[in-house]
Amino acid sequence: MGMVFCRGCGKEIHETAHTCPFCGATQGLAVQRNVFILILISLGWSMLFWIGFLFIGGMFIGVMNPENAEEAGALFGESVSIPSLLIAFIGSGILTYFGKLPGTYKIK
Ligand SMILES: [Zn+2]
Repeated sequence: MGMVFCRGCGKEIHETAHTCPFCGATQGLAVQRNVFILILISLGWSMLFWIGFLFIGGMFIGVMNPENAEEAGALFGESVSIPSLLIAFIGSGILTYFGKLPGTYKIK
């Protein structure tokens, strides 16, 4: 693992450190990540959110309508898949921007 020198005090710190453990200075360059990688991570999370939402929603609809669970589930999937995909994209984009998702850091 690589080491870098703190911008504040010049001591050697780990390259992924957001702040220096000695003086607390923020390491601006260390928190930046490749934007392309961030977009890929964001897309991955939005797919996970989307599939998870459809899966849980479909299960819920199925439980609520035990007589025609399959039809109700399919109807649910058709009616919410596009808007929930958009919400998942936007939500994960915002969370990625603020570095709230695993694998993402705050973009400067
Ligand atoms: Zn320092």
